Amino acid sequence: MSGVGTPARVLDGAGVAAAICESLRPRIEDVRRAAGRPPALGLLLAGSDPGSEVYVRNKIRESEALGMRTALKRLPDSAAFGEALAVVDAFNADPGVDGILVQSPLPAGMGDDAERRIFAAIDPSKDVDGFHPENVGRLVQQTPALAPCTPAGVMELLDRCSVPLVGRRAVVIGRSDIVGKPLAMLLLHRHATVTICHSRTVDLPRVAAQADVLVAAVGRPAFVTADFVKPGATVVDVGTNTLTDRDRVTSIFGAGSKKLAAFDRRGRVLSGDVHPGVADVAGAITPVPGGVGPLTIAMLLSNTVQAAERRLGLRS
Ligand code: NAP
Repeated sequence: MSGVGTPARVLDGAGVAAAICESLRPRIEDVRRAAGRPPALGLLLAGSDPGSEVYVRNKIRESEALGMRTALKRLPDSAAFGEALAVVDAFNADPGVDGILVQSPLPAGMGDDAERRIFAAIDPSKDVDGFHPENVGRLVQQTPALAPCTPAGVMELLDRCSVPLVGRRAVVIGRSDIVGKPLAMLLLHRHATVTICHSRTVDLPRVAAQADVLVAAVGRPAFVTADFVKPGATVVDVGTNTLTDRDRVTSIFGAGSKKLAAFDRRGRVLSGDVHPGVADVAGAITPVPGGVGPLTIAMLLSNTVQAAERRLGLRS
């Protein structure tokens, strides 16, 4: 455990993600032997969100680096919801597709409820994002399910870095369907005492400072400051925020920082939800980038392999 002033141990998400991917290779070979082809992921990218372009490109690159197949269907910003549904239906019906991923956000023109509706249309056995109501229910009931990738990745990181959970206090800031809620459930299943916080939580820093494991999934750069953190706590930073304002970068990271130098080269940098000053108080912390992000992709690949194995009867 570190205390105030001793820099926190950095939890190497990229390293853990690489180890997860390596461990998938023999399982991918088993699928190839049984099916005559490697596990295959169908992706739908609707619209032209720049972040989504990068995420989808990375997912395809990492899948193919492991010898898996990908099929990308693109739709324009102007596409109707029915067109997205038709892509999902085709992936559902295709025996050559094991996993289906619909990149969010969907174009605004598809309507407020489009994401929920499209996730519910995916065959649950191919739902590698774990967002289908059946998989959400299975997650809650702790029966075998494809778990959402970011929360599952956080759990892998905590386990592989030997962070104790049984009986510990975990505080998750954020209650989204894709991160906060499922992660809280996974922590609960591991016998942590879990509190979920959100924008209406009263006296958030005081609640957060009770945590042995503090997770920030807020979407606000440097939101979690040192006063949120119990000395020695493990802090997991899920936030992925792009900063394009030099003054903001300077105020968060400091005038002589590497981030500011990177900003001056590229005109933008990534910031987590956790302020860099937290590293002086926490016992362990995940970096951004190189923390939770690579794990999310590793768990997507893991879920795709798992879906293929189940469909082939190689696992229950
Ligand atoms: P989201 O759907 O926008 O949810 C954000 C949550 O933060 C909400 O529950 C919201 O509370 C809460 N919140 C917002 N402002 C708050 C405040 N002032 N005080 C307390 N809580 C506050 O976001 P998300 O999809 O969960 O993503 C969260 C972050 O993780 C984003 O930066 C996202 O880019 C990142 N992310 C990263 C990965 C990865 O692979 N690294 C994957 C997914 C997401 P209310 O519910 O009350 O509004």
